[in-house]
Amino acid sequence: MLTSQTQDVWDLFLQFIEERCSSTEFENWISPIKVIQSSIDKLILEVPNIFVQQYLIDNYKKDLVQFVPVLASGEPAIEFVIAQPKKTVVQAPVITAPQEIAAQETSKDHYELKLNHLYTFDNFIEGPSNQFVKSAALGVAARPGRSYNPLFIHGGVGLGKTHLLHAIGHTIKQNHKKVRVHAITTEAFINDLVDNLRNKTLDKMKKFYRSLDVLLVDDIQFLQNRQNFEEEFCNTFETLINQNKQIVITSDKPPGQLKLSERMIARMEWGLVANIGIPDLETRVAILQHKAEQKGFKIPQKVAFFIAEHIFNNVRQLEGAINRLSAYCRMMGLDVTEEVVERALSELFQMAPSKRVSVDSILKSVATIYEVRVSDLKGNSRSKDIAFPRQVAMYLAKELINDSLIKLSSSFGGKTHSTLLHSWKKISGQVETDEVLRKQIQMARRNLEA
Ligand code: ADP
Ligand code: MG
Repeated sequence: MLTSQTQDVWDLFLQFIEERCSSTEFENWISPIKVIQSSIDKLILEVPNIFVQQYLIDNYKKDLVQFVPVLASGEPAIEFVIAQPKKTVVQAPVITAPQEIAAQETSKDHYELKLNHLYTFDNFIEGPSNQFVKSAALGVAARPGRSYNPLFIHGGVGLGKTHLLHAIGHTIKQNHKKVRVHAITTEAFINDLVDNLRNKTLDKMKKFYRSLDVLLVDDIQFLQNRQNFEEEFCNTFETLINQNKQIVITSDKPPGQLKLSERMIARMEWGLVANIGIPDLETRVAILQHKAEQKGFKIPQKVAFFIAEHIFNNVRQLEGAINRLSAYCRMMGLDVTEEVVERALSELFQMAPSKRVSVDSILKSVATIYEVRVSDLKGNSRSKDIAFPRQVAMYLAKELINDSLIKLSSSFGGKTHSTLLHSWKKISGQVETDEVLRKQIQMARRNLEA
C-alpha cells in the first residue's frame, strides 16, 4: 500500500539526489524508478531494467538508507520489480496513416537504414567458431530489447562481425517495419557528432538517437582515446538501454581490453559478450563454396579444401581468393584445378601459423636459389646479380613477416625502409607477369614453409 508518508520519503530522496547529480543522469537513471508499494518496513520499487536497479544501489546506497526503511543488516529494505517492456518496442506492422507516412518521409534523411544487402543470416555460414554468437544475434533479432542487451560481439578482422550486425538489422526491419533501427560505424557517429557540434544542432542529434528502438554500432574500438566523444556516446547508450531499447556493438577486442572509461566498459559488459572466432577448415570450405555459388562459379570440393588449407584466419581473404580465382579462370578460359589455384592465388596463401619465418631464413633461402652469399644480400653491391635477389628477399620479408618496415629493413644490413618498400613494389609488379620469378618465389616460400 502506498501511503502518502512513504511517497513523501521517496520524493524527499529524489529531491536530495536531484541536487547532487547532472540532469542527464537524473533523467536517465532516477526518474524512471517508480514506487509501487511502500510500508514502514519495506519499499517496492519498479525499475525499467536491472541496470537501473544496479545503478541506484551502486551509487546511492549510503544516501538511500537515510530515507528508506533499513534491514537489520543495515541494507536498504527495498524490493525491486522489473517493469514489463512496453508493447510499443516491438510492434506488429500496422497500416500507417497517410499523414504519418508523410512525417516519416520528411525525416528520411536521418532515418534511412544503410545495410549491406548480402549480409543476411541466410548468407552467414555457421560453424563451431561462430555458432554461439550467431544464435545470440538471432535471439536479439527475434526479440529486440528483450533478450541480451547490449549484445557485444568481438573478434578479429574479417571474421563476420559487421555481417552479423547487419543481419540483425535486416531481420528486425523485415519483421517490424515500424521499429526505428539505426546502424552506424563508430567513426560515422563521431563525424556526426563533430558536424552537429559545429552546426550547433546537437539537440537535434540527441533527439534522433534517443528516439531509436534499435542501435547497431560497428567497431567501437574507434572510440578509444576520444574522451569527449566517449561521454556523449555513453549518455546515448544509457538513455536507450534504460528504455529497453536494443543495442548491439561490435569490436575487435573484448570490452575489458578496450581503452575506454570504466563506466563505458561496465555498461558494455552488462549484457552478453560473445566472441566470433576463426572458422575451422570445414567451415572455411563451406564459406568458399557458398561465396563461389553466389558468383555462379563452381569449384571442386578438393580445390576448396586446398584453398581453405592455405587461407585460414580471415574470411574476407577467402572471399578475395574466390573473386581473384574466378576472374583468372574466366579471363584465361581455364578450369579450376589445384595447379591453376596455385598460380592465381599463391600470393594470398599464408604460412602455417606455427612456422615462424625470420629475415635470416629468408636470406638463406633466397641465397640458395640465386646462388649468391647471404653477406652479399646484406651488403651494398648494386650489381644486378645481387641487387635483384636482394629485392626478392625484401619482398618476401614484407610478405611473410608481420613486423615494422623499419625493423625489417634494418635486418638487411641497415637499409632504409623506403628501399624495402621500393623493392616490394617492384617485385610485386613483376611477379604478375614474370613466370620464372613467380616460380622462384614459390620455391622460396615452400622452402621456408618446410
Ligand atoms: P569484420 O566486420 O569482422 O571485419 P565482415 O563482417 O566485414 O568482418 O566480414 C568480412 C567478409 O567475410 C564479409 O564479406 C562477410 O560476408 C564474410 N563472412 C564472414 N564470416 C562469414 C560467414 N560465417 N559466412 C559467410 N560469410 C562470412
Ligand atoms: Mg567490420
